[in-house]
Amino acid sequence: MKYSIIIPVFNEEENIQKLFERLFQVVSRLSSDFELIFINDGSKDNTLQLVKDLAATEPKVKYINLSRNFGHQIAVSAGLDACLGQRVVIIDADLQDPPELVLEMDQKMNEGYHVVFARRRKRKGESLAKLLTARLFYRLLARIASVEIPLDTGDFRIMDKKVVDVLRAMPEQNKFLRGQISWIGFKQTYVEYDRSERQGGKTGYTYGKMFRFALDGITSFSDAPLRLASWMGFVVSGVAFIALIYALWGKYVMHNSEPGWASIIVSVLFLGGIQLISLGFIGEYLSRISSNVKQRPLYIVDETNTETKNQSLNH
Ligand code: UDP
Ligand code: MG
Repeated sequence: MKYSIIIPVFNEEENIQKLFERLFQVVSRLSSDFELIFINDGSKDNTLQLVKDLAATEPKVKYINLSRNFGHQIAVSAGLDACLGQRVVIIDADLQDPPELVLEMDQKMNEGYHVVFARRRKRKGESLAKLLTARLFYRLLARIASVEIPLDTGDFRIMDKKVVDVLRAMPEQNKFLRGQISWIGFKQTYVEYDRSERQGGKTGYTYGKMFRFALDGITSFSDAPLRLASWMGFVVSGVAFIALIYALWGKYVMHNSEPGWASIIVSVLFLGGIQLISLGFIGEYLSRISSNVKQRPLYIVDETNTETKNQSLNH
């Protein structure tokens, strides 16, 4: 198998047919040896039936039906577990990621790269709030992350099997694939494109999902928030100490002290500081424990025509 295309789908009934036609055409130009893997992530509309209909007429179409909505990153992970290709493409179903760009990305791969991702030059048809929060998030993450995560890129990319194998073996439960792929290394580059608007239907990424996703990215690749708590603790304790000196000075040198003020302020600040330091430390341990104890499978497969057995992975 030369190429695997991974397409997570969540309520995409309006886009499936069009996407299939464009994608099939594009990938056929690369090779005749490919598979299109649709992962149905708990769609409430007719998506699953449409995908199954495609699979019935076109043997290159594979599908994995998850038992419920597990979220975009997990759906992609299910595709990564099942794919057989030497090169693997991840693409959205709503045609915001233009299939034609895969040709350009594949060309770059031929120059010896292991990952070629698509960087958004412009984004069309998205709300101002989304544009702003996305911009802010990518920049914040770039500042605090322990690995260099490229700005303004989604998961639209092509990867060598070598990278996919490492990705599959990575045990984290809270997936942040674009960060993990940066962390893996090898030779990576990008092509630029203008992101068009959604072809049909509505976004499946609610603000709640985006927020959780952003937190996954930050906690997977940065300890900055935990350190922040400790630092705040030290700063507050420092302020408490200064307040203590000031209070003593006021009482014994200036003789103008307000009764009770000093003891209350100093103890409140000092205790607050100690509590924040402790919280920071507890957080350090907790984050390490919680990421290791959850041995649940990442997803549950309801039915599939791929060869993967039900959760071959047990991370
Ligand atoms: N998606 C998914 N599960 C979800 C949400 C989205 O599989 O819970 C899929 C969706 O069908 C699409 C891709 O992930 O193929 C990107 O989602 P969407 O276009 O809704 O996100 P946006 O482009 O608005 O960030
Ligand atoms: Mg989209």
